[in-house]
Amino acid sequence: MENSKNLGINTICTHIGEVKDEQFKGAVSPIYMATSYAFDGVDVKRYPRYLNTPNQEALVKKIAALEKTENALIFGSGMAAVSTTLLAFLHKGDHIVLQQTLYGGTYNFVVEEFDKFGIEYSFTEGLSIKDFEKQIQDNTKVLYIETPSNPLLTITDMKAVSKLAKSKGIVTMIDNTFASPINQTPIDFGIDIMIHSATKYMGGHSDILAGAVAASNEHIDKIWNIAKNLGGSLSDFTVWMLERSLKTLNLRVKRQSKNALKMAKYLAIHPEIYHVYYPGLKGHPNYKLAKKQMKLFGGMLSFELKEGIDAMEFQNQLQLIKPSMSLAGVESTMLSPAQTSHALLSPEERAKQGIKDGLIRFSVGIEETKDLIADIEQAIQKVKK
Ligand SMILES: *Cc1c(COP(=O)(O)O)cnc(C)c1O
Repeated sequence: MENSKNLGINTICTHIGEVKDEQFKGAVSPIYMATSYAFDGVDVKRYPRYLNTPNQEALVKKIAALEKTENALIFGSGMAAVSTTLLAFLHKGDHIVLQQTLYGGTYNFVVEEFDKFGIEYSFTEGLSIKDFEKQIQDNTKVLYIETPSNPLLTITDMKAVSKLAKSKGIVTMIDNTFASPINQTPIDFGIDIMIHSATKYMGGHSDILAGAVAASNEHIDKIWNIAKNLGGSLSDFTVWMLERSLKTLNLRVKRQSKNALKMAKYLAIHPEIYHVYYPGLKGHPNYKLAKKQMKLFGGMLSFELKEGIDAMEFQNQLQLIKPSMSLAGVESTMLSPAQTSHALLSPEERAKQGIKDGLIRFSVGIEETKDLIADIEQAIQKVKK
């Protein structure tokens, strides 16, 4: 299957981008683990670091079809995808505007590495279009957004950002990890380049580290040129694992999103919960915008427990929901961002991003919500003073 036009989402997930087993007619892609290929008949010699082994070349077709782009690339991690893509478009003397609420690893990459390359950067103060406009300079080359953001699920207006950028000849990039292409296809709103930590929803089983970028052929060529030099490629076994995972992407993400909405509604009226952050709740400040640009609202939410209930003690009492640094697996997990994902930020930086010590991030899995609710209830009863 090569052409994904007119195919439904589950058909794309299942069939696009497979390696045909011509020899034995097996039902799934064979894995080509070779790091050495004959050099006849191909323009670019096949080599895993050139991102053109049979499995690598096949899988990007599925990712491009999901993001509705011409092309895609896969990487050894989400950060390999982020760093390679940023360095492909930013040269010495260039400037980038990034939104203030950003994945911790991306933030660290920018503030720890960009000075060495002579790349200038600014973070927005808020997420309104005025906040982005204010930071743009004559040498701004890239606008970088993340929506919904981690961990407070803020929503950025993709259409407004891309319009602003286009009027000034600036390239737009989005970290689309949290929504996944199931809930949001940013190209429909004019965004140029979609980046994923495939470790999360694309992998979906908490057993794969991978990254992906989807964009036009022109942009992908530019990223490929530096990708082969930086060397952050994905091993063919993991490529094969990722292909298998993506077959159920729509089924998993839809179920997780429906579960998350149910859990958000339950938590929002709970007497021991102070606040719930979920873009699918009518009380969320960006509910209308989220509804415009997302299909469902995703499987991630955050909440703050009322004073007197310690966030760590609460999580220690959970029996079904696991503590976890990562997210988006089929199993439900929780973490305290201040102690984990955002621990490398200074307390001042965390405060600026609105991340309180008692905040809990909840990655909702595919379980029955009645069982998740029972688990949370028993944990709260145990730690309530
Ligand atoms: C995890 C994550 C990343 C980084 O991906 P890795 O696969 O861990 O390198 C980037 N962005 C977001 C939103 C993430 O959740």
